Amino acid sequence: MKKNSMKQKLVSILLILVLAGTIPLLTAFSNKEPQTLYRVYLKGKSIGLIKSKEALEDYIDNRQNQIKEKFGVNKVYLPEDLDIEKEVTFDNDVSSIKEIYKKIENISPFTIRGYEITIGAVDSQAVDGTEIKGKKQKVYVLDKKIFEEAVDNIVHSFVSEEDYENYANGTQKEIKDVGKIIESITIENKITIKRANIPVDKTIYQDTSTLSKYLMFGTIEDQQKYIVQEGDTIEDIAFNNKISTEEFMIANPSFTSTNSLLYPGQEVTLGILKPQFRVVEVDHVVFDEETNYQTETQYDNTKEVGYSEIKQHGVKGVTRITQKIQKVNGATVDVAAVGTGEVLKEPVNEIIVRGGKKTSYYSGGYGTVVATRGQWGWPATCSSVSSPFGYRWGTLHDAIDIAGCGYGSNIFAAQDGTVVQSAYKYDNGEFITIDHHNGYYTMYAHMVSGSRRVKVGDYVVKGQVIGSMGMTGAASGVHVHFAIWRGYPYRGGTPLNPLSFY
Ligand SMILES: [Zn+2]
Repeated sequence: MKKNSMKQKLVSILLILVLAGTIPLLTAFSNKEPQTLYRVYLKGKSIGLIKSKEALEDYIDNRQNQIKEKFGVNKVYLPEDLDIEKEVTFDNDVSSIKEIYKKIENISPFTIRGYEITIGAVDSQAVDGTEIKGKKQKVYVLDKKIFEEAVDNIVHSFVSEEDYENYANGTQKEIKDVGKIIESITIENKITIKRANIPVDKTIYQDTSTLSKYLMFGTIEDQQKYIVQEGDTIEDIAFNNKISTEEFMIANPSFTSTNSLLYPGQEVTLGILKPQFRVVEVDHVVFDEETNYQTETQYDNTKEVGYSEIKQHGVKGVTRITQKIQKVNGATVDVAAVGTGEVLKEPVNEIIVRGGKKTSYYSGGYGTVVATRGQWGWPATCSSVSSPFGYRWGTLHDAIDIAGCGYGSNIFAAQDGTVVQSAYKYDNGEFITIDHHNGYYTMYAHMVSGSRRVKVGDYVVKGQVIGSMGMTGAASGVHVHFAIWRGYPYRGGTPLNPLSFY
């Protein structure tokens, strides 16, 4: 009895041991039988095991049919170095066909024949002078014609068809007296087009209009729309939506001029242009410009204070000016004077006789001031505006850039006032700000280094030379960045369009 019970105990212990070991034991036994599976290799590396090679091939075939249909091609290329090899293995970590397919797609997508276009990087400068780093990018098309037509579309958005045709065919009219000749139209970015197997997981452009949209706006998403309200003008709509009128015109090619008729309820596009390459046009222009006469004040001590008489009326002169103008994507970025200009007619000074004692301001040699254009004096010796006030490329240009007067030409105070800033700043370069004591301030930036003639606290009069035109700070060419502010610039003031003062 005792013996028996011992035996029973032993059996139950063994049973427990066997039961406890059931699961691992069973697995170990089944693994002893190797299975025939397929190992999938991509680029020489195993990406998993599958049960059926045929099932994967069928799945791929099926996907290829979808791709063929989507792109209208008759051949889809498998990734190169995709290998499927039979393997007898104890490894039973089998992947599903779908999992393997996803892995293949992620590592090395299927390709179709097409064109790979590389658009090289070009750095540029924003209107506030900050450097914008360019990015190299690839664009894929089925047919290179699509790309060529889209490039044509973009170029024609910036250069009129007629101008472009004449330039391309060498049929531009020579300049006899005044006129314009396009010296060059170039795309600054290096563009290479090559026939290649292109990956189907990337955007492949199949039509010109979609690609044109991308090349113009940097996206194929629909651009923001605006419904015209009673009383709207193109200028207002553009400014209120932080784009320039030029950009508005390009985004809405159905309008022929900024005075085009708008009607309430009309839908317009407000897209901010982000051209994917830089179309650079260099123009040679010759035009006649009226030159201002100077006003001389003579003091007659025999006459009472307050007496004023024009002894000689001023007559404007005419100067023939030659300039080289550089435009990037339709916007003028630089105006450079060619030579000093040919005087066709000398201006005649205006002479004013005033009574009384000489005032302190006019005794020191400021007897001559640049003629007024209304109340405000023009701050430069030439009048070309190379960059207007307003939005461009998404940034507000809070001044006008006056260019074409030449390096070192005079910059004049636009009105009497007190100098409140005369300094160097990385973006403005050498600059001066004047408080005119009537709520308005003017600012003059990018002067020649060391050319500032006035310091903080100095009183200046309209037409007084305060410095020379240069390109210090963030300036792409010789110009004066001239701003008129209501209130102190950047400290609570509001920048105004200087051109509305002249
Ligand atoms: Zn500027």
